[in-house]
Amino acid sequence: MRPHVLAITNQKGGVGKTTTAINLGTALAALGKRVLLIDIDPQGNASTGLGLPVASRGLTAYDFIVATEPRDFAVQTMVPDLYLIPATSDLSSADVDLVSDPRRLQKMRDSLAIPGALPERLDYVLIDCPPSLNLLTLNALVAAHSVLVPLQCEFFALEGLSQLMRTVQSVRGALNPSLRIQGIVLTMYDRRNNLSGQVAMDVRDNLGSLVYETVIPRNVRLSEAPSHAVPALIYDYTSSGSIAYQRLAGEVLARMRGNRDLVEPA
Ligand code: ADP
Ligand code: MG
Repeated sequence: MRPHVLAITNQKGGVGKTTTAINLGTALAALGKRVLLIDIDPQGNASTGLGLPVASRGLTAYDFIVATEPRDFAVQTMVPDLYLIPATSDLSSADVDLVSDPRRLQKMRDSLAIPGALPERLDYVLIDCPPSLNLLTLNALVAAHSVLVPLQCEFFALEGLSQLMRTVQSVRGALNPSLRIQGIVLTMYDRRNNLSGQVAMDVRDNLGSLVYETVIPRNVRLSEAPSHAVPALIYDYTSSGSIAYQRLAGEVLARMRGNRDLVEPA
């Protein structure tokens, strides 16, 4: 059985992609799934947040993307059953390095298919994308079965989403016809702020059942955890943020079982 590949993407920065990748990955592993997180943001925030300092990063997502043969790309994290292929700044040259490679858009998909390149018996591969619709993000979309989009509860939340949806459509039309949207998760929801509630309602009006019921609250534990180099679920599993990501993991699994089709936003 090949693992389900889920790209966590939004070309806006600071919307909660990395926080979602780390904590959804941890929550899925806690539910007994075997999970690999591939960090393809040259900033490497997911790698740092999972306790792997820059100096300890051996093989990276760059090596993985350009690989032609299996190596031990993934490292075991402090979370049992959660593996990581870390990022370093070498990824920032990928766009240029691959420009003349005819399979530059399929590199990630090709690497995922190399026998023995991944930990055994994986259930899920989560890809933490960079904040841009660049070659790395396109590689993730071409390799993915589905896409999870974090959307910050702020005024311009929907801006940019239509561009992302168009990109998903063109990837479906060209290289990955079965690509689906797993769902859109509202992040950094502040219940004391009327705007947050208004935006959440707006987004649900526009996108309907594409939006997960679970909303990720603005929670200081989620922002503190990375500086301790642990997932929030380990830093404080009782925090509202940790509980929300556990609920989100349940919803993601339920949608996986339901195998929902791509729903087009209005
Ligand atoms: P992205 O990967 O989309 O750039 P991050 O996950 O890195 O976004 O989040 C951006 C910043 O906001 C980080 O400092 C992170 O710790 C913080 N953050 C993310 N989600 C939350 C949240 N729900 N509550 C509070 N802070 C958050
Ligand atoms: Mg990030």
